[in-house]
Amino acid sequence: MFFEIKDLELHPIDFEEKFDPGAIDLGAEYRQRTPIVTSGRADLVEEHHGKHKIIQDIRIKGRLATTLELSCARCLEPVTQNVKRDFDLLYRPQGSDAGRDEMSVTDAEAEIGYYQGEGISLDDVVREQVLLAVPLKVTCRENCQGLCPHCGKNLNEGPCDCTVEIEEPRWAALKEIRGKLAN
Ligand SMILES: [Zn+2]
Ligand SMILES: [Zn+2]
Repeated sequence: MFFEIKDLELHPIDFEEKFDPGAIDLGAEYRQRTPIVTSGRADLVEEHHGKHKIIQDIRIKGRLATTLELSCARCLEPVTQNVKRDFDLLYRPQGSDAGRDEMSVTDAEAEIGYYQGEGISLDDVVREQVLLAVPLKVTCRENCQGLCPHCGKNLNEGPCDCTVEIEEPRWAALKEIRGKLAN
C-alpha cells in the first residue's frame, strides 16, 4: 500500500492490512511466525513556512502486532516474541528541514521521519516500526546458562565435559610457597 500526496490532498486514508511472513523483509535475525496485522490512518498535514511556502507532511497513526522468533542472546535457542506497537509518525519531504529553525512542529508527540517523491509506502513504515518494537536482546529464560565457551554445549541441558579449573587464591598461594621450597 502506498500513500500518495495527491490522494491525501483529497481525504485521509484509513488502512487495515495484513502482511504474511516474507511479505516484508525483516532481515535474517528475525523469523516472522504470524502475519503482521496493522491498521490506522494516514493524513496530510500542511505546515506553513513564511507567507508562500507550504510543506506537505504525511502523518501516519496506527498500531501493529505480530509474532517473531529470535535467537536467545546466550544459548541461541529460538525464542518467541510477541510484538505490539502503537505509532504516531510525521514524515516530512526529504530535504525540507534545511531551515530547521523556522519549523513549527505540528505535534510534539509525533516521531519525525522523511519521505521521498510522491509519498510513502506502508511497507516501509511497518518494517521500521516492527524493528523498533523488537527488544535488542532476548533470552529464552531469566537464568539461561548459555553455551560453554570451550565446547559450545548448551549448558541448560546439563553440564559439559570440559574440566573447569577453579583455583582458589589460598591454594594458589600455597602452591607458590611449595614452589619456593622446592627450589
Ligand atoms: Zn537461552
Ligand atoms: Zn564445555
